[in-house]
Amino acid sequence: MFARAARKPGTPEYEEYYARRPAWKTRDDRIRRMTPLCRPGARHYHPTLSRAAEEWFERIGSIEVDANCVSSAVESIRTADDPIDALTHVTRQLGAVDVGFTVVHEAFVYTHKGRLDKDYGRRIDDSLPRAVVFLVEMDHDRMQRAPEADTIRESARQYYRAARIAFYLEAILRTLGYRAKAHYDAHYDVILPPLAVGAGLGELGRNNILVADRYGSRVRIGAVTTDLPLPQSEPVDLGVQHFCAICGKCATNCPSRALSLGEKENVRGVKKWPTNVERCYRYWRSVGTDCGICMAVCPFSHKNNMFHNAVRRLIRLNPWMRHVALKGDDLVYGKTWKHSRR
Ligand code: SF4
Ligand code: SF4
Repeated sequence: MFARAARKPGTPEYEEYYARRPAWKTRDDRIRRMTPLCRPGARHYHPTLSRAAEEWFERIGSIEVDANCVSSAVESIRTADDPIDALTHVTRQLGAVDVGFTVVHEAFVYTHKGRLDKDYGRRIDDSLPRAVVFLVEMDHDRMQRAPEADTIRESARQYYRAARIAFYLEAILRTLGYRAKAHYDAHYDVILPPLAVGAGLGELGRNNILVADRYGSRVRIGAVTTDLPLPQSEPVDLGVQHFCAICGKCATNCPSRALSLGEKENVRGVKKWPTNVERCYRYWRSVGTDCGICMAVCPFSHKNNMFHNAVRRLIRLNPWMRHVALKGDDLVYGKTWKHSRR
């Protein structure tokens, strides 16, 4: 959807794209005429917070890695008894809250670049076979303000943090003598949610976002692909598939009705709950933020504390507790999303 929205009328890329996808042209043009994200005119535009979000996104382009920091990480990995353990430790030290490794299945790799005009249409045929995948946490209280401007500021801040970690890991792996490629905002060759599921970092929820242990959907994913022969992490079962089947809070509270309350469907060969990305993105443009209600309302997204982690454990181990936990969530937090204005 971002790649579609990024096409500019009158450019060769626009003409080429809609020659292949004529059915989407009129609706995409309608979206393009709406106020861009973070700009005055949208419902939740905020002069300071919206600008701060833009600044975080802009700063991604000027991230520099510190050579001393890279050397000391390389040294610690080279001299460790277990280099993979050391790589995990380094990734956490850089700011990740969880780390996993996976084989990069070809279904997780985009076929072509699409977002930026400068490399639009370039075939991606140099993908690397393994990936370090990691998560950064989005601040709970800021997400509770969804869909206001503070949520997109928080998204941007975490996209920046994920990009910074990815740049460091890329530099570390290259210094160790391996090929490596960082994937970050607007520069992805790989599709991150299935990669994160493959790396054992969570499950895909009804909201089509990763649901991770301890953080729920309040995470951003980062990845570096490499030819370092990394191990394959074990998949996790947090009870999300069953919980989502009985919950549906993200779908009932989605203001654009982009999420499904029905059964899983076959979506381009994958059985999952579908998302109407046009509806979702049109709503983003109307409010001027990236919404985030489906992340914030998810019962798995509560704070990472002793009480909520105990409930998460019960949900994981006992199918009946999922019904009890859902009732409790409705009673304490309500069935309907009420954003906090703290
Ligand atoms: S809100 Fe409920 S249905 Fe939606 S992802 Fe979270 S647990 Fe699943
Ligand atoms: S981000 Fe908002 S509009 Fe989009 S699917 Fe989630 S709740 Fe719906």
